[in-house]
Parts: sequence; structure tokens; C-alpha cells
Amino acid sequence: MKKLIILAASLGITFGAFAQERDSTSMELPDDEVYVMDTLNTQDKYLKIIIYSNHTWQYHDEGRPVIDTSNFFIGWTDAGQIHAFKDVKPAELPEEIDVKLIDENNPYCVPYQAQVRSGYRFRRSRPHNGVDLSLHMGDTIRAAFNGVIRFSSGGAATGGYGNLIVIRHTNGLETYYGHLSRRFVETDEPVKAGEAIGLGGSTGRSTGPHLHFETRYMGQSFDPERVFDFENGAIRDTILTLKRHYFSIYSHYGQTDSESKAAAGRIIHKVRKGENLGAIARKYGTTVGAICRLNNISSTKILRIGQSLIVR
Ligand SMILES: [Zn+2]
Repeated sequence: MKKLIILAASLGITFGAFAQERDSTSMELPDDEVYVMDTLNTQDKYLKIIIYSNHTWQYHDEGRPVIDTSNFFIGWTDAGQIHAFKDVKPAELPEEIDVKLIDENNPYCVPYQAQVRSGYRFRRSRPHNGVDLSLHMGDTIRAAFNGVIRFSSGGAATGGYGNLIVIRHTNGLETYYGHLSRRFVETDEPVKAGEAIGLGGSTGRSTGPHLHFETRYMGQSFDPERVFDFENGAIRDTILTLKRHYFSIYSHYGQTDSESKAAAGRIIHKVRKGENLGAIARKYGTTVGAICRLNNISSTKILRIGQSLIVR
């Protein structure tokens, strides 16, 4: 499944009297052949007008994503809300669920092909719920799968995300695209896999241009590297078996099942006023050394109030 054809802008189309596949960039056609002169946009982004060299024209429907609306819009939020399914807790989700990521009618596109600069993990006392992909300012960001834009906004409303787009996909996942310099799509707009939705940037809480990309199921984030091999621009598999322990920030791609389960069972303590490592260790029946190893800190580290520590 590695070589799925992405719905690209090029119109290799066939129809009517000119039943022949055409490459609109080709200039080597014989003189008597009719070729595509131009392609015009219409109000509907999936409907184009094609003008041929013999001055005839025809509508070309590029096809829109098919949305089975019966369940699709459950928990759809109003335009001002970033997250959906806020009241759903991981414990309420099935132990295991198969997500059919792609099929003949629903392709994929890696939103941006690059090495993962920072992964899905606990980072600087806070969860990092996605992957960071370094890019050049203004690089094109593409929709991962077919779907509908659930959120598209910027400014103070999105906090650290900066310019953010959230797409709900026909496969049941949602994907988040943060720190964009520009957004091309608006809330409630359908999009196809591979469609350009915005440009990469550094808006929000960001140090340098990068794409912050999240994958979520029923509002719960999980490691996007379980879905995509970002470096090679490929999807891992057609079906993703999502396990409940994947929704922990400590569970990531590459772990064995038992490693992931153990990681997901970790207990976190938020440091309160007056507490030191010794007191916290006693409270949880562990040792200072064990806490230091789990958090990769030294035993002399000064704790901040509100800081999260893995205690077990
Ligand atoms: Zn990030």
C-alpha cells in the first residue's frame, strides 16, 4: 500500500470525444490532436472548466470526498472550539479498535514529509501531543485524508497552536495542523487527501518554522508516528489497530505492547508548595533515585510548583 496515488492538481482525465489520457504539461502532441489549453476554477473548488485547443470546453468534476453524514458530525463543535469529545475519557473507549485508514476511494497524503524533530512525549513538564516537523516558512501543508474542516482559526483563541486547522476525517480520526503561516480552508469545508490546506509557519508557541501535527480518536491524542512514516512519506498500514493504552503520552510508536502498557500505567505527581523529592518519594512509596531516573533529572534539581513528575 506504500504507493497510493495522491489526488494531485494535475488533471489526467479521460472523457467524451477525446477519450485519451492527457498530460496538460505535455507539448509534444501532433498538430491535429486536440489538447487542453487551460483550466479555469469555478465557485465550486471541485468543479473545473477545461478549455481545449479547438475552442470547445467542458466541465470537469474532480469529485468530492464522500461523507456518510449519519455518524460523521457527532460531537461536532461550534467554530470556536478546538477540541471535540471533551467529555469522553480514555477509559470509556474500547480496549481495541480497528481504524480503516484508507481504501480505494479514500487515499492518504503525508501532510509534510520530513524527519520528526520532536515526537509524541512528555516534554519540559508538559505533554507534547503531536509531532514536530521542521520546514521552511511557506512550505505547503496538505490534508492527510478526506474529510471536513472542523476548526480553522488563529490568534489568541488557539493558544500555543497559533494558526490551527483541525480536520475530521471519514476514517474516524481527526488531525491537527499547528503554527501555520496561512490557512486556505474554513470551518465546514470539505477537503480531499492531498489538498493544500495552508502554509507552514511559526505562529503561536513555536521556536522556528515547523508543523505541529496531531492525530486524535474521539478527542484522545496518540502518537502520529503510528499512522505515518513522516521521513519516507508513507503510511504504516491500511488498518490501524488502536489500543487504549496508546492514548497515554508515554506510549509511542516503536514500543512493544508490554512496554506501551507499562508506560501508560505511569503515575504523575504535580509538585505542590513546600514539597521536595524526598517527601514525594515517601508519599508514593518509592525512592528519590527512582524518580530521578524516570524523569531524567538530578537529585539536586530544584522543583517548581505545578511541575509534573513521573513517580511510578
Ligand atoms: Zn509540537
